[in-house]
Amino acid sequence: MDIEALRQATPGVGRRTHLNNAGAGLLSTWTLRTMTAHLELEAEIGGYEAADQERDRIERVHADVAELVGGRPAEIALFDNSTRAWQAAFYSLALSFRPGDRILTGRAEYGSNVLAYLQLARRAGVEVVVVPNDASGQLDVAALAALMDERVRLVGLSHVPTGGGLVNPVAEVGRITRAAGVPFLLDATQSVGQFPVDVAEIGCDLLTGTGRKFLRGPRGTGFLWVRPETMERLEPFVVEIASATWDGGRGFTWHEGAARFETWEKNYAAVLGLGSAVRQALDLGLDAIGERALALGATLRDRLAELPGVSVHDQGERRCAIVTARVDGVPTAEVAAALAARGVNVTTTHPEQTQFDTEDRGVHPLVRLSPHYYNTEAELDLAVETIAALRR
Ligand SMILES: *Cc1c(COP(=O)(O)O)cnc(C)c1O
Repeated sequence: MDIEALRQATPGVGRRTHLNNAGAGLLSTWTLRTMTAHLELEAEIGGYEAADQERDRIERVHADVAELVGGRPAEIALFDNSTRAWQAAFYSLALSFRPGDRILTGRAEYGSNVLAYLQLARRAGVEVVVVPNDASGQLDVAALAALMDERVRLVGLSHVPTGGGLVNPVAEVGRITRAAGVPFLLDATQSVGQFPVDVAEIGCDLLTGTGRKFLRGPRGTGFLWVRPETMERLEPFVVEIASATWDGGRGFTWHEGAARFETWEKNYAAVLGLGSAVRQALDLGLDAIGERALALGATLRDRLAELPGVSVHDQGERRCAIVTARVDGVPTAEVAAALAARGVNVTTTHPEQTQFDTEDRGVHPLVRLSPHYYNTEAELDLAVETIAALRR
């Protein structure tokens, strides 16, 4: 990987030390040009006409996203974020939930997903069961296996939580859910684009991702992958002209494939930007991307852990490029502000959005640093020195 060339093609690295790829990765010049070119074309010849002209490239985006997760183009639906993609899957599954049915989830589940589970508990009498963590802090696979019975209608998990460097053991979960014939909805928002994610290897039934984080795509893009056997049994919870055909009179027919989850109107500049970012990740290779991103994460984590008065809080047997830490005696907001003052982009975790984890550990808010493959060791030095100086 030619890091210098990749940085040359990333306008943001000249201005900031961007360690907030778990928030939004920096766009490459190619993606930026793809999007602005399409906006200009829309302005020049008209929005419908621009989409017609770029039809082939727009259609390729489904194939590129499918390749990214190991699926087929007809198994991909595009959305304007990962949450909408996840909702399309969840609320469709939820159409058949009955009182006493169980949803199993993990302690690191994303806040919006938990809110949706709680809504179904309120609306349909579903029971939300939070599977405990094992000693390493990842989802306890044995505990999950012990909880699988005829009441379980869904296992919903976040692959990598938003608030820590944990990578959940999702392939082990997939083996359990497939043996039990229970749908497994995987929120891969933080993992897709960061390291290889393969639906066959994981054994999930539905998977969601976003464009803007480790994929380095534009904001306002996301996608859903649906296993074909799951699709056959799943009626979308909403319908419109892109998802079904009105068969003259009183009937309608769902469209083939995951297209039935999409809406007709799309931001095509963003769709093409997503395609460009995915293509770029595929060309670089997810193995190479993952190797470097995870190595930078590990280096940063180790160096922060060595600093007196600094503790790192990432859990699990496998970790990734998200690093969470706190500094004794210095409020997390001040740590983030000190980094910002030196041009280092980071965020902090939110206790209220990760309440199961907050109950367990009580460590939030933490400062969250998330390098990606295009970051350099020198950039990590700057972050580490800035944090070290806070204790001096
Ligand atoms: C960011 C995030 C989401 C939401 O993604 P959007 O594209 O903002 O909807 C969902 N799950 C996890 C784990 C996330 O980190």
